[in-house]
Amino acid sequence: MDPAWRDPATEAAILADISLDEPWALVEHFSTLTRLSGSEDEARAVDYITSRLSEWGIEHAVYHPTCLISLPGPATLRTLGPDGRNFNVKTPSFSPTTDGQEVEAELVYIPGSQAAGINELFFEQRTAVGQDLRGKIVMTEGLGIAARGFDLAGSGAVAALFINPGERIHEGITTTSWGSPDLTSTDRTPPVPILAINRPDGQALIDMLSNGPVHVAFSNQTDTSWREIPVVVAEIPGRAESDDFLLFHGHIDSWHVGVGDNATGDATLLELARVFNQHRDKLDRAIRVAWWSGHSHGRYAGSTWYADEFALDILQNCIAHVNCDSPGCRWATVYENVSWMSEAGAFVQSVIRDVAGMDSSGEGHVLRAGDCSFNNLGVTTYFMLSSTMPQELVAEKGYYSVGGCGGNIAWHTEDDTIDIADRDNLLRDMRVYATAILRTLNAPVLPFDYRATVDELSAAVARYQDAAGHDFDLEPTQDALEALRDALDEMYEAFATIGDDDDRRSAANDAQVDIARILVTLGYTRDGRFRQDPARGIPTLPALACALQLPDADPGFRPVLLNELRREQNAVVWELIQAVATVEQAIEWQSPRE
Ligand SMILES: [Zn+2]
Repeated sequence: MDPAWRDPATEAAILADISLDEPWALVEHFSTLTRLSGSEDEARAVDYITSRLSEWGIEHAVYHPTCLISLPGPATLRTLGPDGRNFNVKTPSFSPTTDGQEVEAELVYIPGSQAAGINELFFEQRTAVGQDLRGKIVMTEGLGIAARGFDLAGSGAVAALFINPGERIHEGITTTSWGSPDLTSTDRTPPVPILAINRPDGQALIDMLSNGPVHVAFSNQTDTSWREIPVVVAEIPGRAESDDFLLFHGHIDSWHVGVGDNATGDATLLELARVFNQHRDKLDRAIRVAWWSGHSHGRYAGSTWYADEFALDILQNCIAHVNCDSPGCRWATVYENVSWMSEAGAFVQSVIRDVAGMDSSGEGHVLRAGDCSFNNLGVTTYFMLSSTMPQELVAEKGYYSVGGCGGNIAWHTEDDTIDIADRDNLLRDMRVYATAILRTLNAPVLPFDYRATVDELSAAVARYQDAAGHDFDLEPTQDALEALRDALDEMYEAFATIGDDDDRRSAANDAQVDIARILVTLGYTRDGRFRQDPARGIPTLPALACALQLPDADPGFRPVLLNELRREQNAVVWELIQAVATVEQAIEWQSPRE
């Protein structure tokens, strides 16, 4: 394990072959296609990619899984009375609908946080305490994504109207079911219709309310059904005899023509497939390149289907996955708050420094978003979004946080056109991705350090212990983490002496992957190896996070929380014991034989 490992000759050869010709041609073509999941325009985009792959002789398959997809239809809103007027509104994917019938109700404004932007998705629900909203339409600030920011079921409201932070209304999705639902996740949509309106119109309604009650009529429609969506997977084999592969992926579907989100990512995937294929005789491990549908209109339905369908293959052979969403956007000149799991942090920072000549920062814990559908299987990842606008520029332009397009607020709107893509930034991002992937594919020992992961878990447990105080003792978890940390120290010391020994390298890599299967799953999930946790904020080591509820818990609920912690701590410690055993075996394997 050496985060700074590199093979300069191969790297230079690969970087020299990356150009803008193919990627920019894709971006221009995709900028004419509205790629709704399962649509004809999207099929054209798939044809474009598969015809290029065929031309270059790259082996690939196109799957057509049947997934639950929801395409928003028209929505209306008008004020009633003599001065009634119509407002532009949108409804998100998976909103309950009125089937186009108007519903009349009184409007109530509950002020929310200003310009929370995308971050609302990862906050806890606020509740409308003490307000009777039965039969009312609640208006509040927010993007309406996953209908966060409001306890709609508890309020009795008949609909919710979210005031977006800017001039444009952002498209979005309300379900928190990650991928198409199973028996445990069929009830993850909001209870009532969701509408979104822009800031000026929302303000106009707020102003009207200051003059007395406002009655409105609204309607909405969505087309929600199980339908076939495309998934394209190309494979470029490596030299090694093993079945190990890295999964490099992004979504092909879009809102509107979605250039920054995510034609630029689709272009990056295609260009790197082309160049890695040209240099396949120099790749040690295989790379699979996947384009998913169902991201925007099925909450990552395509990647989730792949995680289900190929679960055992991924568990046994996938060394890492790398998501590619919204690279190469206008004004995106820095790498701040980049997604990487702790074990990959030092590695990714060294890549960005080498290729782009700048420092970078990570989010610390990968957000539950963006086709990161392999946490339950325990696969290490880095990247999702990559480059972004500098914070000063965001502030200068009066922008708010969005979930893609390098920070451009054209994200998820009609404005996400060819103007959002930037040739120089795209070339730089493709070089960063290519370098990181090459170094992962060819590193003698995978460049990840799971001591950083253990440190992240320990810090989370310390926070949970602070909250639990004397009511619950998390020391067994901390002790197990410490034992694991010590064992890992010894393991990485042994790895440093591997040299050219192929058997030792391969054993070391197997151990790294086995450790990921335990620590990533523990750190990011609690719904089980073969299920998907919901699409909402998930803290580090979620099994023990309920400790944070202890300080404010009702006396009658505290014993429930304590029971939860007792049981979950057993599960966590048991997993950590398995991890220590795995590491000890790895050390044993690496030690000199008689
Ligand atoms: Zn995206």
